[in-house]
Amino acid sequence: MSDVARAPVPQRAPRTIVDPAELAQALTEARAAGERIGFVPTMGALHEGHLRLVDALRAPPPSTGLSPATLLVASVFVNPTQFGPNEDLARYPRDLEGDRQKLGSRGVHIVFAPTPELMYPQGEATRVRVSQLTDHLCGPFRPGHFEGVTTVVAKFFGMIGPCLASFGRKDYQQLAVLRRMVKDLHFPVEMLGVPTCREADGLAMSSRNAYLSATDRARAVGIPRAISQALRAHAGGERRAGTLRAELARNVAAAMDSVDYAEVADPDTLQPFEGDAAVPDRALFVVAARIGGTRLIDNAVSSEDSPATSAVP
Ligand code: AMP
Repeated sequence: MSDVARAPVPQRAPRTIVDPAELAQALTEARAAGERIGFVPTMGALHEGHLRLVDALRAPPPSTGLSPATLLVASVFVNPTQFGPNEDLARYPRDLEGDRQKLGSRGVHIVFAPTPELMYPQGEATRVRVSQLTDHLCGPFRPGHFEGVTTVVAKFFGMIGPCLASFGRKDYQQLAVLRRMVKDLHFPVEMLGVPTCREADGLAMSSRNAYLSATDRARAVGIPRAISQALRAHAGGERRAGTLRAELARNVAAAMDSVDYAEVADPDTLQPFEGDAAVPDRALFVVAARIGGTRLIDNAVSSEDSPATSAVP
């Protein structure tokens, strides 16, 4: 962690803005004053993983060469258009007051918490869709999901005009899709990917972990364990895609109620390696599985992410 990230953050209540017109005015003034705007989009019910995204804006890792943002904006918005009809939109956890306090404690200046009516005042005639990268992994299991994400993030970028935005590698496919959107649409935004923040036993932090019963929470650690085992097999010389994939899927299935997918894929194209293909040094191990009605995702890239070692039995 850099000195900036370690430095104490002044405790202050962030300004909460609901109305996009008020946000636009505040940010026009900030830009005129020479502020460099950093942005973190969230759906709220915040945990430490979200707050690391804020830290990353204040102190980007030196390896990125990015300069710190000076005005930090976080959105808290449960975006209805990225949920399918049978998904958890209605029961998604909400705690705006708690979120404001957490964001303030990490130095966020503005919390943007619009309503769906303010975000989509005239419906959704305009959509942003990234193809190819959405063809695999979560794409087929969540039709329309990524289109909802790219559309709302494009809207936020238009409203906020950030210089820098941070996203979690926990949602690896989402990050890849958004990076592509930024490139293709020439958004002048620097994208920062932040490592997955985990619980002590290795489970990736997620707002959806709150849905888990104590028994299911204990079983859920089977996901990072399975990924860690696959990373070890890969590091130990196993390079047959079919073998790595089958072992990953078997270990996830043993812990969870059902597996949407467990794949070894190219970290750039997200195309899964199949059959006899030789998996290269740099590979994405990625899982989506369900337990007690809750869908959990996790991933690691060999040679980039340290395995959740505490999760290895
Ligand atoms: P969400 O509120 O779940 O939409 O997530 C908002 C942002 O937080 C996304 O960029 C996520 O990838 C990121 N995020 C969620 N969980 C974690 C985590 N455990 N570690 C790092 N980033 C995360």
